[in-house]
Amino acid sequence: MYSLIDTHAHLDELQNLDSTLDNARERGIVAIIAVGSDYRSNIKTLEISQKYPSFVFPALGLHPWQLGELNSSQVNGELEFIEQNITQAIAIGEIGLDYDKRVVKRASKEFQKEVLALFLELARKYDKPVSLHTRYAWRDALQLVQDAGIAKAVFHWFTGFSSVLRDIINGGYYVSATPAAEYHEEHRRAVKETPMDKLLLETDCPVYYGRGTKYRSAPADITRSLGAVAQLKGLDEAAVAEHTTRNAIVLFSLPGVIASPHRHCEPFASCHSDPDSECNEEEREESQDAQDRLREAISIAVESQKEE
Ligand SMILES: [Zn+2]
Repeated sequence: MYSLIDTHAHLDELQNLDSTLDNARERGIVAIIAVGSDYRSNIKTLEISQKYPSFVFPALGLHPWQLGELNSSQVNGELEFIEQNITQAIAIGEIGLDYDKRVVKRASKEFQKEVLALFLELARKYDKPVSLHTRYAWRDALQLVQDAGIAKAVFHWFTGFSSVLRDIINGGYYVSATPAAEYHEEHRRAVKETPMDKLLLETDCPVYYGRGTKYRSAPADITRSLGAVAQLKGLDEAAVAEHTTRNAIVLFSLPGVIASPHRHCEPFASCHSDPDSECNEEEREESQDAQDRLREAISIAVESQKEE
């Protein structure tokens, strides 16, 4: 079993989270970057990360799909909330642009770009990596990222042109592979063309994947992303796991954000939802286990980096 990191998951949209995350651990997942889509989703994502410290790390964002419902002052409210919680956020995301005509009908390209620029500015101010949705807007998104002076970014589930991909790589940014790398032509080409030191794995769960029969994804399906990348690259899965996990550790600065052993009993944690209650022993142990697994993955990654 390999140590894997799901770098883009919508955990706030999943049910039966306890058993879903147990499955993820059983498949070797040592960390999950949980992305938020709007105010409610960001709150839920924060709560989930507090319940699973050192395992679920929250990114806070505003998805372009949510912009149709919002005016400029509401967008500012979303920004303010994120800034108030910025110390907890491992990244800003999911943010981005979506030029699909159904999306543009509800939120113009101009409005989308204006909003993205604001979030990139926030990311730059606090030196946070960004997790980007860029469907049919690859060049504009890259331009805005570079204009904002962003140092760390992942273009998630990238399906864009090779010319833009080349500039993403040259800019030092990352691309992540979903389970669609098993069958989706543009995504497969992008994965093939991305060097191993710029590639991450993700599920974007609970997205439905598959040609013909579709399945609703969960973090455990990261092994499909892993298998597809290994096949496309002609590498064994162990090598792909090692590279992609190391890349995620570097991009999200994971060694610096492992929760303190007492994180489980800080406010918000489920064992203290009732302020008079005692610490939940089981949760404290779980939290300690999560830390141990991640620390081990990090030390292996650091060792393998030294060897190269
Ligand atoms: Zn997503």
